Amino acid sequence: MFALSETERLVQRTARDFAARVIAPKAAEIDASEAFPSHILRGLADLGLMAINVPTELGGAGAGVMAYALAIQEIARACASTAVMTSVTNMVSETIARFGTHTQKGLHCPKLASGEHVLGSFALSEPDSGSDPGAMRTTARRDGAQWVIDGAKQWITGATYAGVLLVWARTAPAETGSRGLSCFLVEKGTRGLRVGPPEDKMGIRASNTVPLELDACRVPADALLGDEGGGFKIAMEALDGGRIGISAQAIGIARSALAESIAYSKDRHAFGGAIASQQAIQWKLADMQAHIDAAELLAMRAARLKERGGRYTREAAMAKLFASESAVRICNDAVQIHGGYGYMRDLPAERHLRDARVTTIYEGTSEIQRLVIARGVLE
Ligand SMILES: Cc1cc2nc3c(=O)[nH]c(=O)nc-3n(C[C@H](O)[C@H](O)[C@H](O)COP(=O)(O)OP(=O)(O)OC[C@H]3O[C@@H](n4cnc5c(N)ncnc54)[C@H](O)[C@@H]3O)c2cc1C
Repeated sequence: MFALSETERLVQRTARDFAARVIAPKAAEIDASEAFPSHILRGLADLGLMAINVPTELGGAGAGVMAYALAIQEIARACASTAVMTSVTNMVSETIARFGTHTQKGLHCPKLASGEHVLGSFALSEPDSGSDPGAMRTTARRDGAQWVIDGAKQWITGATYAGVLLVWARTAPAETGSRGLSCFLVEKGTRGLRVGPPEDKMGIRASNTVPLELDACRVPADALLGDEGGGFKIAMEALDGGRIGISAQAIGIARSALAESIAYSKDRHAFGGAIASQQAIQWKLADMQAHIDAAELLAMRAARLKERGGRYTREAAMAKLFASESAVRICNDAVQIHGGYGYMRDLPAERHLRDARVTTIYEGTSEIQRLVIARGVLE
């Protein structure tokens, strides 16, 4: 089930090489300066890594879900900020490829793949609704040949630089809850779309995260993605796939934390020997490795199930829950192993901990993953 194809290995090698050569040397600097890594994202697009699981006829790499997960993991080992923007852009492109009309796909997928759209954004969360999209307040009403969108979105990854945004809005009265949501393609620069200032975050500081205002934002009738009222289904399907990406991001961050902990513990001496000779440190390292491997197996299972076209909602939630919670613990242990130096900005351990923390929150919190898993268990 987990043997890798030649294509998957090629994508993995390509991402690993680019991450080591180009991304890793810049990661600490862009974390500190919060500089948007445009040249890195351009490089990733040039390598076909912005639309990995998008058909080649739409400009994508057509390399599959496993290849996507492997690439995100490699990128996250170097820089978690770059990884999440890459992951979300892949998710947006895949969603358009899956639900879009011939024209919508032809218009946006090649641009997302090539980097002409620097990023794609996924605008579901609002100031008053994150876990519960059914409580969304943004509305879209039909006015002749147009839809008019009004409302606000919160914490939208990459939206300052996005060429196209998937924007969810209510097209039926509030009582309809999640059944009254629709999804729209909103292009950069559309009148009435206002992108707010970047948030000041704990981690993934080079990833662009902004609020949006939609003030009588008019889009053409054919900007509706999928069916009117079908927005919730689109969001949930996209998030199932996205969660494989966030699992991969968490695993990548944790892998770096472990590698640095191994090297440091061999090098650092206390009480007449390397701290790696202390059983307390060895047990931490052993737990870190076991959790990383288990998380990777869960993520790979979800990826293969998705590729086979079956249901994988529960498996993706399990991978995301386990990988993200493990990554937070692993990165916390990595700081502990590095002692006082681990708390300093000079070493990457503290950045990994700050970066890992968000993986238990976005694309569904750990609590929401548990709800999804429990629903499956009790089915
Ligand atoms: C850096 C960053 C980037 C993001 N990027 C995007 C993006 O690109 N697009 C986008 O749409 N959103 C994005 N988000 C938003 C993110 O998906 C939400 O923050 C997340 O879904 C949680 O929603 P919330 O913050 O409103 O928390 P709430 O839903 O208010 O939840 C608060 C707490 O209550 C818990 N809770 C809620 N409901 C239940 C329940 N039924 N049972 C048990 N516990 C519950 C939650 O788990 C959480 O612990 C981003 C967030 C961050 C921090």
